[in-house]
Amino acid sequence: MSKGNIKVNTDNLMPIIKKWLYSDKDIYLREIVSNAQDAIMKLKKLNAIGEADVKEAEYRIDVILNKTQKTIKVCDNGIGMTEDEVEKYINQVAFSGAEDFIAKYENSKDKEGQIIGHFGLGFYSAFMVSQKVEIDTLSYKEGSKAVHWESDGGAEYDISEGTKETRGTVITMHLNEDSLEFNDIIELRKTLIKYCGFLPINIYLIDEEKEVKEGEEIKETPINDTNPLWLKNPNECTDEDYKSFYSKVFMDFNEPLFWIHLNVDFPFNLKGILYFPKLNHELQSIEGQIKLYNNQVFIADNIKEVIPEYLMLLKGVIDCPDLPLNVSRSFLQNDGYVTKVSNHIIKKVADKLSGLFKTEKEKYEKYWDDINPFVKYGCLRDEKFYDRVKDILLFKDIEGNYKTLKDFESEETKEVYYVTDKDAQMQYIEILKQENITPVLLCDMIDNHFVSFLEYKISEIKFKRVDSFIGDSLKDNIESEEEIKAKITDIFKNIVGENIKIEVSPLKSEDVTALFVLSEEERRMQEMAKMFGNMAFNAPNPNETFVVNSKNALVKKIIETEDNEIKELLAKQVYDMARLSHKTLSGDDMTAFIKRSNELLIKLAK
Ligand code: ADP
Repeated sequence: MSKGNIKVNTDNLMPIIKKWLYSDKDIYLREIVSNAQDAIMKLKKLNAIGEADVKEAEYRIDVILNKTQKTIKVCDNGIGMTEDEVEKYINQVAFSGAEDFIAKYENSKDKEGQIIGHFGLGFYSAFMVSQKVEIDTLSYKEGSKAVHWESDGGAEYDISEGTKETRGTVITMHLNEDSLEFNDIIELRKTLIKYCGFLPINIYLIDEEKEVKEGEEIKETPINDTNPLWLKNPNECTDEDYKSFYSKVFMDFNEPLFWIHLNVDFPFNLKGILYFPKLNHELQSIEGQIKLYNNQVFIADNIKEVIPEYLMLLKGVIDCPDLPLNVSRSFLQNDGYVTKVSNHIIKKVADKLSGLFKTEKEKYEKYWDDINPFVKYGCLRDEKFYDRVKDILLFKDIEGNYKTLKDFESEETKEVYYVTDKDAQMQYIEILKQENITPVLLCDMIDNHFVSFLEYKISEIKFKRVDSFIGDSLKDNIESEEEIKAKITDIFKNIVGENIKIEVSPLKSEDVTALFVLSEEERRMQEMAKMFGNMAFNAPNPNETFVVNSKNALVKKIIETEDNEIKELLAKQVYDMARLSHKTLSGDDMTAFIKRSNELLIKLAK
């Protein structure tokens, strides 16, 4: 037996590993299991090129829990290590790898999540959860002797002759008191499925103390899917395959709308599947999830340095084998590879949408309600994406027909009337109907920005919410006589208050008594202000216009009546009705409205 010191600066290494990586401590299992997998892959490769001649019934990784002993063993039947190799790879290489990692970690300003999934810490991550780690290994090389190595996470290790009789390596982790959550088969299964659920070598999870009843057959099933769908040729995958993969990976039992299988070999390597989920309209939120893999090993969810932010509204898996993971995130952001990957994904998504639009228009229209927030968000975030999809942006009108920007551009007026709340804006919709104008629905939170964005992009198109003005075409040609105008203004002046402009117009629709109009620009300004929180809710809009229809029968009656009390009651009622159809009345105003309605009805009943 020999003793040795793990090279240099060790005093601070273990505490650092333990302290800083505490939050992601479950990655130890990924690191140890991927080492086991590498050892098997290496042996397979040596076999393939004739450097080794090993016959193996099944290459496998066993993860064995012993709850009483509080140990987790990770066993592989890979290449194993000779004593020299343990000396070199574990005591020197592995250690300097861990040291590099810590150095990077220590120097970075933002210690949280600087290095993706703490990738690259390697073997030494076992000490995050262990008070002692043992290695038992036997190399594939002929005449090798078994080696035993152990260390309690300080600066020292012991190395001695081992007893392992079969080729491969066993890593035994003696869990420390802070990590006993892993002394549990369910927790282990969860962690393995999370990180290693798609590794290419069979992984078995074994409870060492589980009693096997007599006559009971032990059925072993690997916890992982060694041939994940994203690696298959898209031609070989059925709709059912995609759907069941989706529900399994995302635990979403709503069927996805459609998906994109990414499959690139050249000039870079990228595989994956992106799903367009069905939106949960009740929650009005889109929560996507993009799982990033590196050679089938799970790295993390929603890494914004690799995947454009708006794509995270989708659900999917992306496997980037060439992604440099043991670098800091800020490095990744400036990395050419990442730009190429995200450009490719953007192109594929846009192509898929265009393809649907061209060949399956009806389906595309049906999907639009679900995918439109995603597409719009994408346009706002990424000009390239906008350029690719601008011709397939749809606008659904209140009758359920779809229009494109091209349709608007070909129209003479280039004015797009829209509705944000069909019920609240019904009065205006009715008026437009008489003009044969069918407004489009733009009811999502994002539409406010999106409309401004489109106007900036296509200057000749103007978007106007239905309550933003009464166009000349909606007014009757006969100008209201000046005298009537003056009378009406006089009646309403005191009721309406100083801040609101009064306009008297003969509207084509005689049914409308009065309504409010607020210019598109001012309303958008106000909405922005509201969003930034510096305007009280329902504050008077300084430039709102109260339009009274001089052709309306009730308005005419108000002018004619001699009874001043009735005149005022009716005028107030007209004003409140216009307010009601536009927005809700506040408590006091509503009380007054009800009271007045009562009064009027009593008078009527007389
Ligand atoms: P990395 O895997 O990034 O090289 P690690 O610290 O995880 O770094 O491991 C260091 C080295 O130790 C590996 O490169 C490998 O040579 C050796 N090693 C670790 N685990 C095993 C194993 N299960 N079988 C054989 N060799 C191993």
